[in-house]
Amino acid sequence: MKPINTARFVFLSRSVNESFARGALAAFLAQADPTVPQLADIKTAVSEAVTNCIVHAYPGGLGVITLTVALYENGLVKITVADKGVGIPDVDRAMEPLFTTGNPEERAGLGFAVMQSFMDGVQVRSKPGKGTKVILKKQLSVKE
Ligand code: ATP
Ligand code: MG
Repeated sequence: MKPINTARFVFLSRSVNESFARGALAAFLAQADPTVPQLADIKTAVSEAVTNCIVHAYPGGLGVITLTVALYENGLVKITVADKGVGIPDVDRAMEPLFTTGNPEERAGLGFAVMQSFMDGVQVRSKPGKGTKVILKKQLSVKE
């Protein structure tokens, strides 16, 4: 299946860019006329994925984050959030609720759990030293 429209945003892993990513995505998705709850779900999940790149991917430095979004005719939205950072050694373990390698006073270890509960599909591909790609899917209800 070919997307009917796509966009790609490339930005640095600065924390101010978390709101940029959410806003840019919402602006693109407006053409698909999502419901308010659907858009809120997508923005929440993407915030978690982008925050993970900002917080975990480039320890002690900055790197590039690439957000891509694709829109399909049947209302499917596919979003990828990719970094070229440290990667995740054990993805299954990282996705378990409450697992965190971050500062436990700041991090709950719930980012992936949030993505899973707000989206229809979450896939994570990661290679230590090469980076991480999170693929998020949401089926928008098709309007008459
Ligand atoms: P919270 O999201 O609740 O603030 P968290 O970020 O630690 O806490 P998750 O978002 O579930 O929790 O991520 C779990 C763990 O997966 C992280 O602690 C980190 O070790 C790893 N991780 C997630 N995303 C990345 C990434 N882009 N690069 C490297 N490691 C990551
Ligand atoms: Mg997180």
